[in-house]
Amino acid sequence: MKAIVKTDPGKDHMVYQDVPEPEATGDLIKIKVAYSGVCGTDIHAFNGSYSSTKPPVILGHEFSGVVVAVGRDVKNIRVGDRVTSETTFSTCGHCSSCMTKDYNLCSNRWGIGTQINGSMAEYLVSREESVHILPGNVSMLSAALTEPLACGVHATIEKGNVQKGMVVCIFGVGAIGQMVAQVATACGAKVIVAGLTSDKERFDIALANGAHRAVDQFTEDLAAIVKEMTGGEGVDVSFECSGAVPAANKALEITRRKGSVIQMGVFAEEKVPIRCDYVLHKEINYVGSRSQKPSSWMTALRLLEEGLVIPEKIVSKIVTLENWREGFEMTADGRGVKAVIAVDESIA
Ligand SMILES: [Zn+2]
Ligand SMILES: [Zn+2]
Repeated sequence: MKAIVKTDPGKDHMVYQDVPEPEATGDLIKIKVAYSGVCGTDIHAFNGSYSSTKPPVILGHEFSGVVVAVGRDVKNIRVGDRVTSETTFSTCGHCSSCMTKDYNLCSNRWGIGTQINGSMAEYLVSREESVHILPGNVSMLSAALTEPLACGVHATIEKGNVQKGMVVCIFGVGAIGQMVAQVATACGAKVIVAGLTSDKERFDIALANGAHRAVDQFTEDLAAIVKEMTGGEGVDVSFECSGAVPAANKALEITRRKGSVIQMGVFAEEKVPIRCDYVLHKEINYVGSRSQKPSSWMTALRLLEEGLVIPEKIVSKIVTLENWREGFEMTADGRGVKAVIAVDESIA
């Protein structure tokens, strides 16, 4: 089969090549891939700057497809099922995080598209526990983005506890920021997205999908806008999805007393100057939200089924597997929102 293989840790070192097809043994399910999303993590892997990636490996961890074979121990999934899958391939199974199914925090977790061959290929295998059958009304394109949607669910609902009537601000309007915006809107919150002048196209996508206000921080005063919208109180919850230190500090500034700031963006440095005075004096709940876990997927699939979120609306570009570089370049340059590789568009 054809696949995009990260051959060794150096920058680029990625090739479109023939590799053997994986086999569905034990509890594994073999999936023929329809679509595979290109994620920021894939760009870091491409650049050789993501230490979790263990080459040689096929990249890709956001996907949809159809089941073509199941292992002997598989019980509830059948050939022909339309599916997506969590990115967890295996965990240690006995740490405190595994006991509570917080697989995103297991330090011996192996992930699809990072340590285990992923979805930028014609076929991949995933364990039954991670595979989810798609609701019939959900498109393969939207289903391929269930993973970033689940990251948005984890941050918005499981960490941010966003409720109807709240005002929230999202810093960064890439794929993750857009997913948080859609989930927060589905929760009944009023959504502000904050970015830069170069985010114009991304702002338009957020506004078309329910965001209330987009703020260009180069030309507009975000703090003043928030004050006016919240009677001087500040937003209930902020989401930092950009990994920029000034954005994190602005989030702490514009969030109300006893509000929450959810850190999703990864900072380039390990140690960064954060305004802890805001955390202290306003009793702000400043918490991290890392990836997603099984409970996030259940909620994400329900939101998809009910049509409350439509992830395919953030797709800016679809490329073939052979032309994967175009999708990677768009993502690396920060153009559009989401690039998706169509591995087999005939799978509906
Ligand atoms: Zn991703
Ligand atoms: Zn564990």
